[in-house]
Amino acid sequence: MNAGLLKGSCHCGAVKFEIRTPLLPATRCNCSLCRRKGALMTAAFAADDLTIVSGKEALTLYQFNTGVAKHFFCKHCGIYPFHQTRKDPGLWRANIGCLEGVDPYALEFSVSDGQSLSVVEDA
Ligand SMILES: [Zn+2]
Repeated sequence: MNAGLLKGSCHCGAVKFEIRTPLLPATRCNCSLCRRKGALMTAAFAADDLTIVSGKEALTLYQFNTGVAKHFFCKHCGIYPFHQTRKDPGLWRANIGCLEGVDPYALEFSVSDGQSLSVVEDA
């Protein structure tokens, strides 16, 4: 899939963003956080390929375990739009469910073993 411009937003619309990335390979993750949020994520992309169009002030940061990954969510609607990855802090992934014109249920995906990246038991 080519790396076209994709537009995304959180549920309430406070956070709007654009990313330039291939959607695939789409990934789910089995870490303790992703198990709970259940989002399908884009392929990883460089920080420069993410533009926060509006709502930077609506974003809240959540970190756990190693404290490397940065998980952002909208403080108004609670939706996770994108995060900075644990494996490579230069790379980001976005929530495919937030993207315009993309059906996350129509995509094939693999499950990434985020659980094994945790250094604390049961994290
Ligand atoms: Zn929101």
